[in-house]
Amino acid sequence: MSRTTPLTEAFRTLGRVPDCPIIDLHTHPDAFQGIYFPAPDMDGILRTMDRANVRIIAMAPHTALKDPAYGNPITLQMMAAHPDRFRTYLCYNPHYPADLAGLLPLLDLPGVVGFKIHPGETRYPLTGDGYAPLLAAAEARGCLVLSHTWNEPTCNAAQCRQVAERHPNLRLLLGHSCFDDWTGAMALARDFPHLYLELTAAAHVTGFVDEAVAQGLAAQMLYGTDLPWFDPYTTIGSVVYADITDDDRHAILHGNAERLLAEVVSAQVAG
Ligand SMILES: [Zn+2]
Repeated sequence: MSRTTPLTEAFRTLGRVPDCPIIDLHTHPDAFQGIYFPAPDMDGILRTMDRANVRIIAMAPHTALKDPAYGNPITLQMMAAHPDRFRTYLCYNPHYPADLAGLLPLLDLPGVVGFKIHPGETRYPLTGDGYAPLLAAAEARGCLVLSHTWNEPTCNAAQCRQVAERHPNLRLLLGHSCFDDWTGAMALARDFPHLYLELTAAAHVTGFVDEAVAQGLAAQMLYGTDLPWFDPYTTIGSVVYADITDDDRHAILHGNAERLLAEVVSAQVAG
């Protein structure tokens, strides 16, 4: 382990490292009320990706988090335009459980990797009945579920643990790694190999990346940014300059995501 390695030096001198592309599994490619983003549209997102050597992003529009019928088509259209760069989650609002039936067939589309849910934004507990059929369907089909997770009443580590116990094969991505409950998040990842610590905002917290890797969790850690909320280099820097190995850096920045995306495609073909 070191903070000065061939890979850290390559990032420091080049900024973009050809054999270490970035894959971002947590992004929101549209504007959001109450904050200015300089480049939230598709072309702006692509420029940002190219600047930081982000090869692929998986997306969920802000608008789709509450209004999936309006928002989900945004990313489906983006994927159609750039299938090599974009993947999408389907968003789902647990207050409208009847909508799930219309989403399930879309899981078969190329580039659709699973569901994004936001218990905080929709004020609905992750463990509630509105999410149960979605979690069961995702587990059965082998796709991903990216959930906003935070140390708050709707999506905290205890609730993630209940879901993990109920769904032992669900590939559950803990968005923000249960932010502010780092001990709880790392315990979850240790106890459940099918859970992943997604690093949006969490990577900015001093020592979290180092500690999670020290606990043997490098294969379950995923680069993420909430793009366009955070610039790609915030999380890149947090991973590159953590006191970990170059193998760990490759795993977190792209290797783990490559494996997960390949597993999703295999499950689609098998299903
Ligand atoms: Zn997010």
